[in-house]
Amino acid sequence: MSLRFILIVTVCMALIVVCLIGAEGRPVQPVTNPQQHQQIYQPGVRNSFDEHALNAKEMNLVLNQLRRKTGFVQMRFDDAGFLRVDDRQDFVGGSVLARKLVLAAIDGKNAVVLQSHNCSQEIGFARRGYETHSSHWRTDLQIIATPIEIDFDDFKHLHGHSEAIAAFDLGFVILHELCHAVLGLSDYSAKLNSAGNCENYVNGIRRELGVPERQQYAANVSLKKMFSFSPSVETATLHFLQTKPGRRHGSRAKTKTLFLRWEVQLVGGKSDYFAFSKRKPKLDSEIAQQKSLSQVTSREE
Ligand SMILES: [Zn+2]
Repeated sequence: MSLRFILIVTVCMALIVVCLIGAEGRPVQPVTNPQQHQQIYQPGVRNSFDEHALNAKEMNLVLNQLRRKTGFVQMRFDDAGFLRVDDRQDFVGGSVLARKLVLAAIDGKNAVVLQSHNCSQEIGFARRGYETHSSHWRTDLQIIATPIEIDFDDFKHLHGHSEAIAAFDLGFVILHELCHAVLGLSDYSAKLNSAGNCENYVNGIRRELGVPERQQYAANVSLKKMFSFSPSVETATLHFLQTKPGRRHGSRAKTKTLFLRWEVQLVGGKSDYFAFSKRKPKLDSEIAQQKSLSQVTSREE
């Protein structure tokens, strides 16, 4: 074997190693498949095409939750990851308001993109991400897309009354985000400690489904023991009201107060609450009413 041949082999091996190191360190690239490229410009509700795409288990969770809320029997994700309802008249139970909202998202002229952001410290449960405007350089294709960023892991950290936890499950949180993305509703309300416009809509869905209604948008944060044997930790609490069976909803209806809570550190998303509380000016009377350690917005911005 000549010295020249050994030198060439050594240089080639070194180049291969450098290439492999580069490949490992490179971030996952968005899908460049030409078919999916066209689908980026399709409106409706779809799975993300990039590294934040929901896996099969997460897509099933979303589908089961939305089926239960809407009652749609023939709801599915198609092969490209778009949410479809094959027969809109085929529903069992479910909420009229949830059906209207989901169909408005599917039929809308914009895209709603579901993304998975598990174990994120920035996201508590879910939030609406930044809108993106895309236009094709050669054709007149364009689309506005709103991501719904979901932290599936956070739902494992909910404690409290089982009915309240059921009223704050993945499906209700996604419906809340659709209220932002599709109906343009906000979390703000002129009334202190109220649920806000998005949650007012979602509470309508809860009422139709007979589950407790959320009482305020902002969660109370205080130091609490999550379990009797554990140390005090920063804990967020949300309250819900259940109208007793047979009673009509209203001020005279007999109700039961329920709560759910979570450890702030485990779920994350705290910066969202502080951003919210900074934007909302506080009156002296509001501050006086603030008995807990701090008042922040809940996590599903
Ligand atoms: Zn919100």
